[in-house]
Amino acid sequence: MTPAELGSDADRGDSDNDPNAIWKSIRGGQQFVPVPTLGTNATPARTECIRIVCISDTHGRHRDIALPAGDVLIHGGDWTKSGEIGTVQDLMDYFDNSGFPHVLCVAGNHEVTLQPSFYDEHWDRFHPQGKFDTKIARKIVQQSRCIYLEDAVYSVGDVQFYGSPWSPIFFEWAFNASRGKEMKTIWDKIPSTIDVLITHGPPLGRGDYCHSRIRAGCYDLMCAVQERIQPRLHIFGHIHEGYGVTFDGTTLYVNASNVDHSYQPVNLPIVIDLPRDATQPAHVVQPHCRIHDSKDFLGWLKEKDEYVILESYAVRVDWSISKSPFGNALFTGFMDLCDILGLHRDRLAIEQLRSAIGQIYSESFC
Ligand code: MN
Ligand code: MN
Repeated sequence: MTPAELGSDADRGDSDNDPNAIWKSIRGGQQFVPVPTLGTNATPARTECIRIVCISDTHGRHRDIALPAGDVLIHGGDWTKSGEIGTVQDLMDYFDNSGFPHVLCVAGNHEVTLQPSFYDEHWDRFHPQGKFDTKIARKIVQQSRCIYLEDAVYSVGDVQFYGSPWSPIFFEWAFNASRGKEMKTIWDKIPSTIDVLITHGPPLGRGDYCHSRIRAGCYDLMCAVQERIQPRLHIFGHIHEGYGVTFDGTTLYVNASNVDHSYQPVNLPIVIDLPRDATQPAHVVQPHCRIHDSKDFLGWLKEKDEYVILESYAVRVDWSISKSPFGNALFTGFMDLCDILGLHRDRLAIEQLRSAIGQIYSESFC
């Protein structure tokens, strides 16, 4: 059954809005085609593309995320644990000093202080020690260089971005709406002309599969994206376990969640090149890591002051007998490297390794 055959959301009753049941009936018609990428050795035609660095769901850990360079930095929401003003201020400072010509963000369901109508009613559930001032939260965001998108468009040259904080009700947090009619009304506002869509929550079936084995994505969003808007790029977060990229032949779907299910900042930013020629698809840019062996790695560590503990572990290990991940495998071989270096019980060393890999990654884009 195609989404169109299933009928519009307005026609469905509440029991018909179960995303798992809907997914079961439509997944056969969903396209999952290989993700377009620029190979590690390709030299990207930078002037013909806009480079977009995607992050999301940092939940206060944004300082642990090293950013590759680019033209536009996008945050898909859940900047905070529960809208703490100190975290909002620190994130805006981080954005202002990021070196990006453009920074765009949407709020997530955790930014409760960004939605006064919700927060005024529910604040004591989040902050029993005292209420935050929602006007201050909003002011901090407005005073930063960051473009805050709440159901709004922003253009970079000819490329149009649209951002929305809404997601289907999920334990009743901010910017939640009911599946079906309510969600559809929100998505109906998105212009069909946009190139890049930013929503906090995923569409059904893309980066939305939870540990609890349910799909949390929005069916109404999926229909809007696939049948009407057809953006070249759709960036979101919200479901941390859904980190990664899929492609349906038209739209590249990016779940950029940086923290995992346990709120640890384990996922690297995702880098996308969007051709200025609107007929060309968005593609994933792969890193080109210049660290090819243990000697390179040690040399890199020695150049930095902040990795002293990690360096001492690295010096002690007999690398010759190890099958260490280097090159781009470094970015997926974190656990292997922990094993080889014997870091298991040293929390600080593990954090240093995570941070070092993040920095090496951010330096690996040409
Ligand atoms: Mn989150
Ligand atoms: Mn969320």
